[in-house]
Amino acid sequence: AFEGLSEKLNHVFKKLKSRGKLSESDVKDAMREVRMALLEADVSYKVVKDFVAKVSQRCVGEEVLSSLTPAQQVVKIVNDELIALMGNDNARINMPSKPPCVIMMCGLQGSGKTTHAAKLAKYLKREGHRPLLVACDIYRPAAINQLMVVGEKAGVKVFEMGQIDPVVISTQAMRYAKDYGHDVVILDTAGRLHIDEKLMDELKQIKAKVEPNEIMLVVDAMTGQDAVNVAKAFDEALGIDSVLMSKLDSDTRGGAALSVLAVTGKPIKFVGMGEKLDEFERFHPERMASRILGMGDVLTLVEKAEAVMSKSDAEKLTKKLQEHSFDMNDLLDQLKQIRKMGSLKSIISMLPGVGDKVKDMDVDEKQFSRIEAMITSMTKKERAKPSIINPQRKRRIAAGSGTKVEDVNRLLKQFEQMQQFMKQMGGGGKTKMFARRAR
Ligand code: GDP
Ligand code: MG
Repeated sequence: AFEGLSEKLNHVFKKLKSRGKLSESDVKDAMREVRMALLEADVSYKVVKDFVAKVSQRCVGEEVLSSLTPAQQVVKIVNDELIALMGNDNARINMPSKPPCVIMMCGLQGSGKTTHAAKLAKYLKREGHRPLLVACDIYRPAAINQLMVVGEKAGVKVFEMGQIDPVVISTQAMRYAKDYGHDVVILDTAGRLHIDEKLMDELKQIKAKVEPNEIMLVVDAMTGQDAVNVAKAFDEALGIDSVLMSKLDSDTRGGAALSVLAVTGKPIKFVGMGEKLDEFERFHPERMASRILGMGDVLTLVEKAEAVMSKSDAEKLTKKLQEHSFDMNDLLDQLKQIRKMGSLKSIISMLPGVGDKVKDMDVDEKQFSRIEAMITSMTKKERAKPSIINPQRKRRIAAGSGTKVEDVNRLLKQFEQMQQFMKQMGGGGKTKMFARRAR
């Protein structure tokens, strides 16, 4: 959804990058283009104005970090401010100390409430909760059916009482949840084509009766700036706690995601990216910012790494790196882990500044297998202490792995450089991050 914006901003930064130092007028020119790019992406005018003012001020006022070029500094500032604009924290559901937690989904007709009630239920179920879906949209029998269908897909119980007063349904559902041990209750309410008094009255009545822990507004990203206006209106009339932005998979310009928090003061907590129940994730401001800036989905990469690496593995590895005892046995383990993350190409594509360029890149997937074969052909002792690998051993390893002695030499050389590098890093860096974040 942010492809266009990302391209435009990249273009602006590229122009900056080609120079050594930035003058005030460079910053001014760049900011003019940043403003245009954001406006074209459907970010609200006032938000753009404030954003550009903030960024310009910081660009001019702040000292350039010695580790960055002035242009990189601008990118960093824009990145920081984009994150701040969308909310610095990864917002979570407000879980009460005493269950059940009631989440009331509301929004206009067709925004994606029913679909996302089920997606959210599935997501929370995976987190260890026992959600209950409640059919409060009683105006069409088909709406109740739809919830039953998606509820079944999600493997979540659906509570329905047919077409009776939704206030009664929601209070009955609360009792049911308590009786049957559901710790989360998700109310799928009715929507209308436009915001009107009747809709708000009904929602207000449900709100007053069940006192939801979280009123979550579902807005359709495809409606662009209107999504932000809807959020503002719902918040003023009903009071909302958070926003769920649906249909981010559409080729919308996506700028609405940038404006929601600034305009309503309410964070986006989740995003939907398709009709399938799994096309759903928590909203990560920092990830969105790096996607907008074309910095690659580094965090996704980190998460993938976490998913294949267990906590104890990660801790062991960190310890080894800190003690400088990382050897070829560990390298072999690491190669196997990386393999589990997917093809080399898919991993590289997630690195900053790579993205789609990987398509034209000549990535040698076989290189992996060759290295693995060479290490496997070494004895445990050789892997632990590569310095003992003499010419005779090299020949044996080459023969055993179907490679040449030069290949073995190259691997040993690369490994030595890697060890050097790890020493310089003080055994920290990314791997430490894996260990800390691993579950
Ligand atoms: P409700 O009226 O607010 O309950 O909206 P629904 O959940 O019934 O969704 C309306 C339509 O939008 C349905 O056809 C859904 O399949 C579709 N839809 C919902 N969420 C998404 C999404 O994230 N991406 C896409 N592409 N379609 C969606
Ligand atoms: Mg619905």
